[in-house]
Amino acid sequence: MTDDCLFCKIVSGDVPADVVGETDHTIAFRDINPQAPTHVLVIPKRHEPDVASLAAADPEATVDLITHTRRIADELGTGSYRLVFNTGADAFQTVFHCHGHVLSGRSLTWPPG
Ligand code: 5GP
Ligand code: ZN
Repeated sequence: MTDDCLFCKIVSGDVPADVVGETDHTIAFRDINPQAPTHVLVIPKRHEPDVASLAAADPEATVDLITHTRRIADELGTGSYRLVFNTGADAFQTVFHCHGHVLSGRSLTWPPG
């Protein structure tokens, strides 16, 4: 838990979120500003700033997070989904607690902007 981290506060329940799934290592909740009919953030409960840091610190939690995204897409989306980890400010990471965006439910364009 990092005191000034928004997503740590969601993990602890201090900030409310529309939680759609939880495992021992991760929680999944709907993005407050959805970019697709299904837009869920899957985050580790442990605070790490990005997915590479999570992989180095806790491989089991990383596998759990990736596995969880498929369940979310199967249950809430269309089966097809995009998993995005914006990493670094220039890639538009705005919350520096590792999170995967699970986007599904519409036809997605490629390449992204
Ligand atoms: P990033 O830009 O870091 O890749 O993604 C951060 C995401 O967190 C954004 O899509 C943004 O809409 C979402 N977000 C920011 N604040 C909140 C919040 O308080 N609750 C929820 N559910 N999502 C949030
Ligand atoms: Zn955090």
